[in-house]
Amino acid sequence: RKITIAIDGYSSTGKSTVAKQLADYLGYVYVDSGAMYRAVALYAMENGIISDTHFDKAKLIETLPQIQLYFEKKNDWEKAHIFLNNRDVENEIRNLEVSGFVSPIAAIPEVRAKLVAQQQEIGLKKGVVMDGRDIGTVVFPEAELKIFMNASAFQRAQRRYKELVEKGENIQFEAVLKNLEERDHIDSTRKDSPLKKAENAIEINNSEMNIEDQFHMVLQ
Ligand code: C5P
Repeated sequence: RKITIAIDGYSSTGKSTVAKQLADYLGYVYVDSGAMYRAVALYAMENGIISDTHFDKAKLIETLPQIQLYFEKKNDWEKAHIFLNNRDVENEIRNLEVSGFVSPIAAIPEVRAKLVAQQQEIGLKKGVVMDGRDIGTVVFPEAELKIFMNASAFQRAQRRYKELVEKGENIQFEAVLKNLEERDHIDSTRKDSPLKKAENAIEINNSEMNIEDQFHMVLQ
């Protein structure tokens, strides 16, 4: 019997790493819900809806029907890429600029309603591992397995920094740390489905855990 697995937690706690490992091992579909919020943020940046100096929420809400998102897998071993209006944006959505705009955008109830509906539709097919902030609380409250991940902010920023540097981004560690803390603050204090542990979620703090140990723990 296939089940639904919800993995939530703070930014850069390694949710996607364990989610992808689980999906590969179990033959499930992995869905990165954060990629959807990031793609909406990229759309807003490219269409003059959000910048360092302004944020036109009404315009974003009005243009939501024009934002089409879907995931497509290129091969068996890589994770599925996200497409924004038929364009592969998997790489672009990871940069620090998108990371800076995504949480204010994810705090808009209309944005969440649209994306949650699409996530629930994907989840109709059992055998899904989805990671995000509200998967165990809002998207799949009935999920058979819920994991809530955490680690120290410093550890998380170090991991994210290393990842971005490896990708060739020219960034400062302090900027990465600041972004994580800002996003966590916005994500956990927003009115609409704030980031929090579902009552029946298993909490994992992986500050001192390696990826292999963590995988075996979740699998058990
Ligand atoms: O998971 P990731 O860090 O890529 O998510 C980027 C941002 O998208 C989060 O900081 C949060 O603001 C938003 N998000 C959300 N709900 C989700 C997934 C992501 O609000 N289920």
